Amino acid sequence: MKMRDKDSKIAILGAGIGGLTTAIALYQKGFKNLSIYERRNTVTTMGAGLVLWSNATKIFHKLGLLTEIEKLGGQLLQMQRWTKNKDYLGAIEVNKINKHIGFKSYSIGRTDLQNILLNKINELNIPIHYNHNALNISYQNNITSVNFENGISIHTQIVIGADGRINSMARQYVNGNNTPVYQNFVNWIGIVESKKLIFSKNNVMDFWGTGERFGIVTINKNKGYWAGGKSLPINASFKNKNHKTELLKLFDSWPPEIKEIIKLTKEENIKYIEVFDHNPTLKWYKNNVCLIGDSAHASLPTSGQGACQAIEDAWHFAAILEQSETIEEAFSKFQENRFQKTTAITMAGRNLAKSLFNENVLYSKERNEKAKNTDYNLASQSIAELWSKNLPK
Ligand SMILES: Cc1cc2nc3c(=O)[nH]c(=O)nc-3n(C[C@H](O)[C@H](O)[C@H](O)COP(=O)(O)OP(=O)(O)OC[C@H]3O[C@@H](n4cnc5c(N)ncnc54)[C@H](O)[C@@H]3O)c2cc1C
Repeated sequence: MKMRDKDSKIAILGAGIGGLTTAIALYQKGFKNLSIYERRNTVTTMGAGLVLWSNATKIFHKLGLLTEIEKLGGQLLQMQRWTKNKDYLGAIEVNKINKHIGFKSYSIGRTDLQNILLNKINELNIPIHYNHNALNISYQNNITSVNFENGISIHTQIVIGADGRINSMARQYVNGNNTPVYQNFVNWIGIVESKKLIFSKNNVMDFWGTGERFGIVTINKNKGYWAGGKSLPINASFKNKNHKTELLKLFDSWPPEIKEIIKLTKEENIKYIEVFDHNPTLKWYKNNVCLIGDSAHASLPTSGQGACQAIEDAWHFAAILEQSETIEEAFSKFQENRFQKTTAITMAGRNLAKSLFNENVLYSKERNEKAKNTDYNLASQSIAELWSKNLPK
């Protein structure tokens, strides 16, 4: 099939950040025969927040969504590093990254971002079918069939697997298995909002301990999100406990602003997550199914780039599909275009996690010393160079 045929039927599995952004990007390239299938009954899940770094805001600018993001997002100034005893280790100036890429970076609540995307999807009349949990995929005579748990089956020309990192059905189909890798730490993530002034400046504050870490991201003076991390085996006993009580014990000797933020966060706004990523693989497509976002290349939260890379995928996927002669050509070009950058980001996330969640006291002392002596200009430059790779003009 020639991809110039823009009437091709395209099914997107998953209405997360990747799936929704891909639908918008495809529509804008003229692929309008789109449907999204989501296993949940809504797109908005309780999530904390994320930073849309300049590489992602550049894509949102191209998709005409940046103004909405600017309304709800907070412009970040610095990514600061501290020890758990509040010794200052230095900071990356976010403006250096912004200048290099030519766009600002914004912190934003995950629900706010999902709603911006969802409003656009509704405006474009792209249908989202909720309660559609994909159970299996099959292929015959150029047509791909997807069977859902509710008994419904669809038959389509292209399937985009945007169904996340943990149990992606599309990844199972493409790779023959879906085995995310547990990285031996957990995160408690929370979003905090108060009438009280909580933050004075829009910074990321990252506190480092030994095998433990607490990161706070400001969205505005009254709102922010945070993640407390700890090196732990899977299924540790923390899972079913009262999160606030456990966190207040765990971070008791840490700087007072951490305890203040935990206290201000409602228990129902805290989520306990065992953290997995994927080993990079050069198998992102099979027949007419192509993976994007976390199902293709899930990276750890320590990469800071999971969602941003799903957003970059969306843009490249649509642009490459439009320019390709065949589906096979489009999928292989897409993988070739995206593999190196996403792999570098996955590995950077793993390296930082290994260092932050190392439980050796001597190691963490040396790590902190190294951080103190870091040339942060150079560090900002190398982050900017990686994140700016291969962006559209
Ligand atoms: C603890 C934690 C913190 C993070 N913090 C950040 C951050 O600060 N910044 C950042 O950029 N990234 C962060 N990330 C990563 C980011 O959340 C992901 O990279 C991003 O959400 C990827 O988007 P996606 O659309 O590919 O997957 P997802 O957002 O996971 O969406 C997948 C969607 O598919 C649906 N689905 C799954 N299976 C099926 C099925 N079988 N049938 C139909 N639908 C299905 C799911 O319900 C979901 O809606 C974090 C991740 C974790 C785990």
